[in-house]
Amino acid sequence: MRTRLTSWWQSAVVPRRGIAQLLPAAGWPLVVGLTVLDLVVGLLPVAFVLLTSVVVGAVPSAVEGGSGSPEWAHLVRVFLAAAGVFLLRQVLAPLQTAVGVRMQRAVDGALRERAIRATLGTVGIAPLEDQRALDALSEATREFDNDFHSPGAACAGLLALLGRYVQLVGYAVVVGVVASWWAAAALVVAVLVFRYGQRGGLRRYSTAWSLVTGHRRRATYLREVAMGPAAAKEMRVFGLAGWFSDRYTEAVTAMLGPVTEQRRRIYFAPYLLYTAIGLVVAAGVLVSIGRSAAAGDIGLTALALGIQSVVAAIALGGYYPESDVPTQYGMQAVSALRAFEARAAEVEAAEEDRDGTRGAVPERVHLAPEAPAAALRFEGVTFGYLGSDRRVLDGLDLELPAGLCTAIVGVNGAGKTTLVKLLTRLHEPTGGRITVDGTDLRAVDAHEWRRHVSVIFQDFVRYELSAADNIAFGAVATARTDAAVRDAAEKAGILDVVDGLPSGFETPLSRSYEGGADLSGGQWQRIAIARSLYALGAGARVLVLDEPTSALDVRAEAAFFERFVELTRGVTSVLISHRFSSVRHADRIVVVDGGRVVEQGTHDELLATGGTYARLFHLQAERFAAGLDADGNRIEPDDELTEARA
Ligand code: ADP
Repeated sequence: MRTRLTSWWQSAVVPRRGIAQLLPAAGWPLVVGLTVLDLVVGLLPVAFVLLTSVVVGAVPSAVEGGSGSPEWAHLVRVFLAAAGVFLLRQVLAPLQTAVGVRMQRAVDGALRERAIRATLGTVGIAPLEDQRALDALSEATREFDNDFHSPGAACAGLLALLGRYVQLVGYAVVVGVVASWWAAAALVVAVLVFRYGQRGGLRRYSTAWSLVTGHRRRATYLREVAMGPAAAKEMRVFGLAGWFSDRYTEAVTAMLGPVTEQRRRIYFAPYLLYTAIGLVVAAGVLVSIGRSAAAGDIGLTALALGIQSVVAAIALGGYYPESDVPTQYGMQAVSALRAFEARAAEVEAAEEDRDGTRGAVPERVHLAPEAPAAALRFEGVTFGYLGSDRRVLDGLDLELPAGLCTAIVGVNGAGKTTLVKLLTRLHEPTGGRITVDGTDLRAVDAHEWRRHVSVIFQDFVRYELSAADNIAFGAVATARTDAAVRDAAEKAGILDVVDGLPSGFETPLSRSYEGGADLSGGQWQRIAIARSLYALGAGARVLVLDEPTSALDVRAEAAFFERFVELTRGVTSVLISHRFSSVRHADRIVVVDGGRVVEQGTHDELLATGGTYARLFHLQAERFAAGLDADGNRIEPDDELTEARA
């Protein structure tokens, strides 16, 4: 009993409190206005029952007195009052809906912002790689865009509940006065029991939905991939449509099966039981009112009042569509958002000091604007992804001298990108530390540090926005000038292409938009390079390029690197590549293997040493001579042809 009560408290009361706490987001005038409207709209039917019953009771004496008699005038007055109440309700109901929708918009808007803050507010990206956090997030945000179930609709629904219950109390008072207070109490209990059956069923039913979130996410993914533009080419060329359609059907079946099964179990038997209870009680109260009338204890008005109130009250024993469904799903969405926030904080905290070896976070310091002036250092850095035992970096020591270009090479999976993620604080080292001019990076605010760094990730984002936006995103905090954007484009070797687009720099870089244009893979890579050069122009001190030329052909790549060294002279830059041939111009080359630095020096020094670098360099050079690139792909001699294919 105790555990049932606790679970009811947890599933019915706590989330409702969560919804009530959202109300201030709508603003108090809206909350008070809607509450008053709900109460008035709730009480008007009771007034209508009262007035029509008086009409019924007044008919005999009015007929006896004839038209023109005071009794007739009384009947007409009461009838007009009843009609007025009816009309008022008709007028207020749409107003109630309209105010409810305004509340919904206001609350959902605030919640969307909260969800955005929750997802973007984490310093690192570990929470967005965590299954539990992702499930909670997907469950939360799905309802935010639902017109009927959103948390905002739940707020309006919660207030609407007041109207319904005030109405029930109104009918109960009427029954108490005309019949007995016992009858009134029995009626209220019967209505609540019946509602409990229905409402509790809805709770269990919607919980059944939350248990199949994984299947739902998969079904949504399959549908979006199959129908979206990203996979449109492969869908057709590989003939994947049938495969995706079958898997989608499977996922939907897996999702709906348990829910349909639950639905039958949850609703059918309780429905029969609670309906029977409701009917028996209603019949009992009606019989008692009828008997009093037959015995002459109550008059015609009271009889009409009693019958109407009982019937209307019993009708309150079911679902409240304007309230129950939105409240249920809205509560779930809010709970899911809270679960995401909690899980995200938990994952971040877990990553912050996983082994308990890093010690307390040092006291906050600000960096000099020109940092790094001496060097960036990885000191004994160890790192493994959460949920995996493998150490991707294992006691890595690495110095990136300020003002020089350090190339980091290593085979696929050696941990090069991971190193960039640690440097940009998207993940925290499991052990060891990263320092900038001797200061532990943990002592520096992550946002402040990121303004010193400009990165192009291997999987940089191709924003479906204007070319200018795509470039200026390198430094949004700085006021944009057309000259700086053009300059960055020019240095990245993409100026002519952009100038040739239908609206130049204002052209949206996607054909999905009117007047938009698509770029080739290599052209996109140059846009990304321009983005990072723009950031340098705006004051970034460190430039990290992760495989910046993978979509360029060998000639364009060689040209790019020669230019790159010129463009970034004096900048602390990190160049990551698995193509050993492409980094020879760097000031220093570092070879990463097995989570550590295994060799470092200049190109010539490393070749002379005859170690891993020399071996892999020669291997790739041989491939190159055979017409294959570092990945074993055939090299296309024609620059334009390769770009068009990318
Ligand atoms: P590189 O850039 O050298 O090719 P990465 O740093 O991308 O290598 O990856 C190093 C290793 O870490 C790989 O084995 C990869 O599978 C693993 N890894 C990368 N990202 C994640 C992640 N988000 N979660 C778990 N493992 C990851």
